[in-house]
Amino acid sequence: MTTTGRQRPAPPHVARAPRPAAVRRAEAAARAQQRRRSRRRRTFLVGAVVVLVVAALAVAVPALLGRDHGSAPQAGPSVAVASQPSATPTTAPAPTARDLATAAITTAWTDRWRGAKGFLGTASGPASCTGSEDDPTRCTQKFAGGTLVWRPAKGGTVTVAQTDDPATDLVIVNKQRPLDPRTFAPKKLVEVAGPNEVMRPEAAKALKSMFRAASKAGLPLVVHSAYRAYGVQASTYEGWVAAHGKKQADNESARPGYSEHQTGLAVDVLDASGSCGAMTCFGSTKQAAWVAKNAWRYGFVVRYPKGEEKTTGYVYEPWHVRYVGKKVAADVRATGAKTLEDFFGLSAARTY
Ligand SMILES: [Zn+2]
Repeated sequence: MTTTGRQRPAPPHVARAPRPAAVRRAEAAARAQQRRRSRRRRTFLVGAVVVLVVAALAVAVPALLGRDHGSAPQAGPSVAVASQPSATPTTAPAPTARDLATAAITTAWTDRWRGAKGFLGTASGPASCTGSEDDPTRCTQKFAGGTLVWRPAKGGTVTVAQTDDPATDLVIVNKQRPLDPRTFAPKKLVEVAGPNEVMRPEAAKALKSMFRAASKAGLPLVVHSAYRAYGVQASTYEGWVAAHGKKQADNESARPGYSEHQTGLAVDVLDASGSCGAMTCFGSTKQAAWVAKNAWRYGFVVRYPKGEEKTTGYVYEPWHVRYVGKKVAADVRATGAKTLEDFFGLSAARTY
């Protein structure tokens, strides 16, 4: 038996034996190729991610910009409409002064009344105007819950007022226009002369300012009667009826629900200097002349002027001033209107 004939199994370490140089070179080349492939794969992946990000931004950014400008993200249709050359600007007739007046009512309604108050409801029909198309003197727009009146005034200012609602400071009350509701009472009242004489805050502030100016001019004023509640006015009126009869009572006093004093915006003022402490002589005082000339500067009008009884329904009351705000008081003066009825185009109210 010879050893040459015996087949010894290859020892396990044979594989780790040094390989021929050619094999090592081939293996190195294969590894290098593998590394190049990995690099190419990484480059491709990074490129793909960049392309995806750019594509996402291309979609998202215009959508975000569109939202910033208040339009819908899909701005296609509106952009298409906007880019169409439109003949409207050149062919539409230029707005007339009347168009602008009615637009002013709409703007006031939108900005001031609808936003802040919300009581006017929907408009009933178009605004109606007096005067010519190019020179309207007054436009009125009725709403379910009130009326807005537009008046031009000198200096390019316009007045838009709500004349029906007693909660506004431009409500017009007279013998044909009772407060609605007749038992109306202001939400807030502040003292103007002790605890018994009160007015709405805006009117009280203006009155104080007017009194300061009058005192400065050497013509001090004092409050005679400010706010009167429905019940108080009822007693006052009944007192007049009892003393002088219904006819005279209606000339000198107001029925409850029809008095400006019930709005909290009207006040009777008297001379505080001591030379005249009563209504009967107030008209002949320097104070009365000062009030007639200057009340508008503080937002008041002398509500019942001399010679306007047929419109206001009241005899001359130089002591009775009504707060309407500085702007409207100035506008009333600028237009030369003698009464608030004239100013707002409301019917005369000689009698009930
Ligand atoms: Zn009065």
